[in-house]
Amino acid sequence: MAVKRQLSMVLDLNKCIGCQTCTAACKLMWTNRNGREHMYWNNVETQPGLGYPRDYQNMGGGFDDDGALRLGRQPSQEDYGIPWEYNYSEALMTGTDPWLRPNVKPTWGANWDEDEGEGDYPNSYYFYLPRLCNHCANPACLAACSRNAIYKRQEDGIVLVDQERCRGYRYCVNACPYKKIYFNEQISKSEKCIFCYPRIEKGLPTACAQQCVGRIRWIGYRDDEDGPIHMLVDKHKVALPLHAEWGTQPNVFYVPPTSPPKIGPNGEELDESRIPLDYLESLFGPRVGEVLDTLAEARQAKADGKESELMDTLIGFKHAEMFKLS
Ligand code: SF4
Ligand code: SF4
Repeated sequence: MAVKRQLSMVLDLNKCIGCQTCTAACKLMWTNRNGREHMYWNNVETQPGLGYPRDYQNMGGGFDDDGALRLGRQPSQEDYGIPWEYNYSEALMTGTDPWLRPNVKPTWGANWDEDEGEGDYPNSYYFYLPRLCNHCANPACLAACSRNAIYKRQEDGIVLVDQERCRGYRYCVNACPYKKIYFNEQISKSEKCIFCYPRIEKGLPTACAQQCVGRIRWIGYRDDEDGPIHMLVDKHKVALPLHAEWGTQPNVFYVPPTSPPKIGPNGEELDESRIPLDYLESLFGPRVGEVLDTLAEARQAKADGKESELMDTLIGFKHAEMFKLS
């Protein structure tokens, strides 16, 4: 779907510390009440893991190779995690309950399987995967909407739901393979990440990027040849979409995680990566190995005291320079 410009984000998974500051920033700004309690427009999950909503990678959606729309299944409330309240009054004010406890038994939530990962010590591994709507170039949510309530803005490619037109049919939820569009039962309408467009229109980065402790997020326009997105995605080619095979053409890209070597039975370092390459390829496609080689070369160049435009960009010396919004 052609637009005049496309706003995009790159996230460097080597720098994410899983602090959830981005999640909290987004939640406080957009989804902390009014039927949005179960929604995390930005979430940070541990991979390998089932993620949020639970097992979304096997719920279907997106497009077939021939371009036909696939309607997957909708997550249940349990897949998101049922929001709970605490008995603050009884435990902290009146003293009628000695324990602070949730009012429902939690069974799932955002980053429920935190830090579990895969493998056995000393070769266990995991990494954090922050996720948000990809503001796709070929949005399955939009293609599925029989009300034409979902649209993609010409000026920046942000995908939004027209709340006046939405009737809450939820085909969009079935169709989005990333499960990044949500149903609000209180108002019977779908809602999703708006890429903080009121901030973008003022030249400010999204709340998740502004607050990011690890400085892992760059924002800019894909066609800006002097900007960070073009530099990382198109020039140095080190940022890849998640599950490109789902056919929605995401505009959120990831620098894949590098990995320490495996440790052998006698404590020796083996010539094998602890995070299996085929696992990373299952997420980010067949170019992952090439990207990891490029990252290793750039890191070595810097270690040798040579210039590396790529490594200087990835370090992100000045946070403000990671956003180019004009
Ligand atoms: Fe739509 Fe999902 Fe793509 Fe977002 S990630 S634009 S909700 S298909
Ligand atoms: Fe990762 Fe940044 Fe979010 Fe912290 S704020 S979890 S470093 S993306």
